Amino acid sequence: MDKYLSRLARGLVPYVPGEQPGDGDYIKLNTNENPYGPSPKVLEAIRRETGEKLRLYPDPTCDALVNAAAAKYGVKKDQVFTGNGSDEILAFSFMAFFDPDRPIMFPDITYSFYPVYASLFGIDYVTVPVDSGFDIRPEQLMNSSGGVVIANPNAPTGIALPLSAIRRILDGNPDTVVIVDEAYIDFGGQSAVSLIDEYPNLLVVHTFSKSRALAGMRIGLAFGDSGLIRALEKVKNSFNSYTLDRLALAAGVAALEDDEYYRVTVSKVKETREWFTAELRKRDFSVTDSSANFVFASHRSVRAEDLFRRLREKRILVRYFKKPKIDNHLRITIGTDEDMRTVIDVLDRIL
Ligand code: PMP
Repeated sequence: MDKYLSRLARGLVPYVPGEQPGDGDYIKLNTNENPYGPSPKVLEAIRRETGEKLRLYPDPTCDALVNAAAAKYGVKKDQVFTGNGSDEILAFSFMAFFDPDRPIMFPDITYSFYPVYASLFGIDYVTVPVDSGFDIRPEQLMNSSGGVVIANPNAPTGIALPLSAIRRILDGNPDTVVIVDEAYIDFGGQSAVSLIDEYPNLLVVHTFSKSRALAGMRIGLAFGDSGLIRALEKVKNSFNSYTLDRLALAAGVAALEDDEYYRVTVSKVKETREWFTAELRKRDFSVTDSSANFVFASHRSVRAEDLFRRLREKRILVRYFKKPKIDNHLRITIGTDEDMRTVIDVLDRIL
């Protein structure tokens, strides 16, 4: 069969997303979804959009969503890009800003889609090691020849870098683009969106999948200098002009408008995270200080892979990465208080 495939397709090693079980009978804490669901106003906006208008293509420039995002974040319209989830924006960014013969840099422990995009687009990369506590060391991310990608807070550790460290990385790479993937920033940490006027090489990427509870709609945003945004638009319009459908556009605008719902649900997740972290620590887990909607934990005596398997038997899904450095850790999404109480009770029985 391989003879029919392009050389590119033959060599690809794709990203493996977390399991999405069909029967729904799980406490699902494996893909960092939001337990509270989208705002009722978002659901209403989707219902309003669902009708005869769906025969028409959506707005290719996503004006309504771009304007709403510009207003919310206090930036100019030409500093905003929208995409079909932040994964798509990351893919377009690799195409727009990185070249095959100029290696990019990212930490060795980070979102595992970065090396996948690099190999899809034939871009060389070097990874720099995080320290023994999983902290990223900014001084190691200097003078890249091709560019830098970091997740802040980082995945799967949840650890956030302060804005001063982001500045150091930007100052250390004045000639290449630095992508700061802020998928989890609403749960902690300081956003680098405030720096886009200062640094023409900064692209900040956001998602509606986590804090806005819209993973099922696929909505992402990017913020940066208008020159970078134009490059992303050029790539997008060379690939698919309609990356966001009508329902996603309506949902995105309504989500940005309902600040109250967003604030209440995000602070609830943060509160549950602090409680859950403390409970894990009482039970001999070492847990990173997470600024995200998940925790990253390792037990002193029971192997993470065993815990993963035994939690799964009890219908609790968490994420386990069988990879160097992190193969004795679990990444556990923060669910409702009830979900997390159940996890603790089940862990007590297992341990
Ligand atoms: N960046 C990071 C660090 C993530 O963990 C995720 C979620 N898997 C994404 C980006 C992609 O999110 P989405 O495509 O749903 O916007």
